[in-house]
Amino acid sequence: MFQTIREKVNALGVSWPDFLLFIALFILFICVLAFNRITQTHKVYLAFHFIMMLWPLGQFLTATAGLAEYQLYFVKLSFSALALLGPGWLVFVFFLTGRASHLKSGRFYLYMLPSLLSVAGVIWNPNELFMKSIGDDYFNREYGPLFWLLVITEFVYFFTALLNMFSALKTVNSLNQRKQLATAVIGMFVLTGFSVLDMLINVFLSPWLPVIPGLMSIGILLSDCCFVVAIYRFGMFDILSMAQRDIFEHMTMGIIVVDENGKVLEVNRGALPFVTTSKGNTFEMEKFLSPLRAQGEVYEFLYKYRHHPQERMQLEIALQDNQNRHVSILISPVLDDRRTLLGRVITFHDVSELRKLVDEMNRKNEALHERNLELITIQEELFRVNQKLEQMAVTDGLTGCYNRRYLMQQMEHEVLLNMRYHIPFSVFLFDIDHFKQINDRYGHLVGDEVIRGTADAVRAKLRRTDILARYGGEEFTIYLPHTNREQAELLADRIMTAISDNIVHSGNEQVNVTISMGILSEDSADLHFDDPKEYLRELFSRADSALYKAKNEGRNRVVAAH
Ligand code: GH3
Ligand code: MG
Ligand code: MG
Repeated sequence: MFQTIREKVNALGVSWPDFLLFIALFILFICVLAFNRITQTHKVYLAFHFIMMLWPLGQFLTATAGLAEYQLYFVKLSFSALALLGPGWLVFVFFLTGRASHLKSGRFYLYMLPSLLSVAGVIWNPNELFMKSIGDDYFNREYGPLFWLLVITEFVYFFTALLNMFSALKTVNSLNQRKQLATAVIGMFVLTGFSVLDMLINVFLSPWLPVIPGLMSIGILLSDCCFVVAIYRFGMFDILSMAQRDIFEHMTMGIIVVDENGKVLEVNRGALPFVTTSKGNTFEMEKFLSPLRAQGEVYEFLYKYRHHPQERMQLEIALQDNQNRHVSILISPVLDDRRTLLGRVITFHDVSELRKLVDEMNRKNEALHERNLELITIQEELFRVNQKLEQMAVTDGLTGCYNRRYLMQQMEHEVLLNMRYHIPFSVFLFDIDHFKQINDRYGHLVGDEVIRGTADAVRAKLRRTDILARYGGEEFTIYLPHTNREQAELLADRIMTAISDNIVHSGNEQVNVTISMGILSEDSADLHFDDPKEYLRELFSRADSALYKAKNEGRNRVVAAH
């Protein structure tokens, strides 16, 4: 008995290995669908297409399988496929009309539910409510209420899909998309028409008319043709990849895609001015950069290219041609999820213009920088000259002491402060003794030297805050802030000693002079004046009197004013 079944099965060409192969191919088909870079709509269409394929396959196998047991499988397969055709339609229509978002948040499962229940009904066939065989095989069969339920469900799916198509047709503006949808609608009518015809002839009128096989399959084939036309004639699914190809081909940037071994998989027109390679060749970076190898940067780049292929790298080079072109090379690795190198994308970007602009800008910047430096130097020079001028305006040329004008200006301000805050201060007025004789004896130049030497000797004894000024000729004044009578007398003595120790050398001459000094100290306790100029005139007159007195009393001495 077993032997006869095997023989029968083999004779019919239906065997378990074939079926297992079919399953393996099916899994492969699904994997290819799932992991290939195709659009979502492509995937939906291909899945839908696959379901459509099952009907004719099931029909064929039912017709050819001699054993009722197998026939039952194939009939169930056919009707399961038919049950899935409805939601397949609907989902495909949603994608075709750009309403895929309708399927989100669980609605997809809701749409699938009636169909899945139908499939369950088909496979389970409870109490032969879906169908039962006539005679001892399933080629001739009688349909039960579950079959009619399935037919109704399918019609509901078809009409829902149709309604969707029509409403999409109303809203679509693009002529191309309209044509596409219209073709798909025709496909739907063809399929519906053929399935109705199949049912009419092979189910309702079967007692009176001969069975015409394959009506439904023809409908499926014709409608599928409509979809294929809709897809390819109007090129909707491929717009993205066509656009990508178009951009890739026409972009000015050169692009080479290589596999992990450097074999060129793709090269665009933009790359041709830089490299001469074509698909299938091996792109050798070393060879490409060989004219430039001497440069350290290139060497480093090549090292990285060879030993760290997973890294992104960039290099700018000047091509060795007469156009002085600069090219920026960027290498981006293509990695899979586990960071295994699949290939690399090498781009060439002509940056000559940019380089020219950058060079030009650098040159301008440099010129500007130099100009700036010059300006800074001029500014510094001006500052120095100004300082010098200011200095010259307040100092005496011969001795480097302050001049009388400066002293008076400062003192006008100082005496006011001294009066307000009762700050003691002193004023010295001194004159070189018998200076006329020095001039007469040694000449004016030596006289000048003596004036300068005397001023230096006095300055050496003063504080930084004291003001030594040339009052006129060989006569000097010292303003001593914060100095009371006692301190003033002490300082005056020290100055006298310094002068008597001071020997002025001029040529072979050694000159020593004495001075007479009138000193005046103000404790500022009861100081009061309204006009500082007037006060200073009176102050100097008192100092002058003291100096006069010192001269009269025999010179080389200090006389304090009262
Ligand atoms: P006395 O002791 O009374 O001061 O006698 P003296 O000779 O110094 O008299 P006086 O102070 O009146 O004389 C000042 C002289 O100093 C007059 C002038 O020829 C001279 N003199 C003034 N200024 C300068 C100068 O800048 N350089 C030189 N070499 N001599 C000057
Ligand atoms: Mg004098
Ligand atoms: Mg004098």
